[in-house]
Amino acid sequence: MQPNEHLFPTDKIRGREAKEYLLKQKGIAVWMTGLSGSGKTTIAVALEKALAEKGILTQVLDGDNIRTGINSNLGFSATDRTENIRRIAEVARLFVHCGVVTICCFVSPTEKLRRTAKKIIGASDFVEVYIKTALAVCEERDVKGLYAKARKGEIKDFTGVDAVFETPLNPDLILVTRHLPVEESVDIILKKIFSK
Ligand code: ADP
Repeated sequence: MQPNEHLFPTDKIRGREAKEYLLKQKGIAVWMTGLSGSGKTTIAVALEKALAEKGILTQVLDGDNIRTGINSNLGFSATDRTENIRRIAEVARLFVHCGVVTICCFVSPTEKLRRTAKKIIGASDFVEVYIKTALAVCEERDVKGLYAKARKGEIKDFTGVDAVFETPLNPDLILVTRHLPVEESVDIILKKIFSK
């Protein structure tokens, strides 16, 4: 057997170990949950930058690249929210198994949805981060003007307005953005993922 042949077989699709060896990093999913406007994307962007500075490859999955593409046929009913998260988690799992630090920014408002994601990705590859920001603060920020539309009834089933957000029961991290500047949130996540 040639050195590394178990990692790089010539007759099989290469596995996770080979990809992590090539990238010199380990795959993991950072699953951010929280209300719209809570800070998931802002923290993801800063986290991605901090990891890039360490030479670590990342992929952010969020509404912009998922709901407009692979999940463009899904709405916000309970059934569609479940299918949305199922597909996202399957995509995240592929990236994780490629050795990529995969940062997922989705409201994922119920415990059931978050459990589904964790089960698909695998508990040992999953770090659940609850971005805890009060509804009133998110609504005041109203980054995308969505709360105003939801209050006017122009958007139905909007989380926090007329759809529930269940507080995560057992997240790996809780980041209270009122007390934490973005850089501090990033440092806390970095510590957690490196300890894994
Ligand atoms: P989400 O992705 O959760 O919908 P965004 O990241 O798009 O939320 O929006 C959060 C908004 O809150 C941004 O305008 C961001 O600048 C602001 N913000 C203020 N303070 C913080 C903080 N400490 N952490 C994260 N975001 C913050």
